Amino acid sequence: MKKTIITLAASLSIASVAVAQDWDKIEIKTTKVADDLYMLEGEGGNLGVSIGEDGVFLIDDQYAPLTEKIVAAIRKLSNDKIHFVFNTHYHGDHTGGNENLGKMGIDIVAHDDVYKRLKESDTAKEGLPIITFNDMLTFHLNGMDIKTRHYRSAHTDGDSIVYFEGKNVIHMADIMFNEAYPYVDVDGGGSWKGVLIAVKDTLNQIDDQTKIIPGHGPLTDKAGLKIYYDVLMDIDSILRPLAEKGLPLDQVKKMAPLKKYDADYGNGFMNPDTFLSIVYMDIYNHINR
Ligand SMILES: [Zn+2]
Repeated sequence: MKKTIITLAASLSIASVAVAQDWDKIEIKTTKVADDLYMLEGEGGNLGVSIGEDGVFLIDDQYAPLTEKIVAAIRKLSNDKIHFVFNTHYHGDHTGGNENLGKMGIDIVAHDDVYKRLKESDTAKEGLPIITFNDMLTFHLNGMDIKTRHYRSAHTDGDSIVYFEGKNVIHMADIMFNEAYPYVDVDGGGSWKGVLIAVKDTLNQIDDQTKIIPGHGPLTDKAGLKIYYDVLMDIDSILRPLAEKGLPLDQVKKMAPLKKYDADYGNGFMNPDTFLSIVYMDIYNHINR
């Protein structure tokens, strides 16, 4: 069973590297989320940008070939110094620009486990975080507190959600794939249950006016996150009894238990078959180990 998961994850990382090759065609789209706060989209994870009297604070940096375009998009918003890039987790579609930004003298900040995983990979020294933390971290910048909160095992083991206090905006990291099946990186320390816990915990801390930048997918709000949570909980309630019965994955696949969601949620990074395989096996392994 373990072998199945490892094979899946290996093929996924190859797929994610091969996603976008024609970088010239990619445009960076800027969306205003609040005063002096923006979401940038190109290829890969959604970026967050805070501008203000103290300079620029950036969340994530997509892929290395896009750094120039991302910096140009930021320069349309502000010519001030880019102080920090905060990595929400280690995946290459969020940290691929680290080395370029590090060489520009921008300080990279991330959770301890992000540092560990980037260091273990082929990341150059300039692409590694120089400040890491183990639970929560607060930036006092641009007239507000920017608070980061780590979740131990959700999308990966190093996910951080970022709260822009005073703006009522959060960046959810890849704990939220808005309007798509989420990817749970089990080999990267993530877990299905941890995603549910992190989403529920976040719902308890925000209000109806909170704007949410998801790791992937369009800008949303608490109502959007609640829909996402309800779908994930429903999926859990469908799959868990099958895992409790000990049904093998092949048999569960034939039952197509998530069919009602596949058309709406199966067109993102996760196709229906891969999503079902990862989530079912994670639930199964937690029950039957
Ligand atoms: Zn990710």
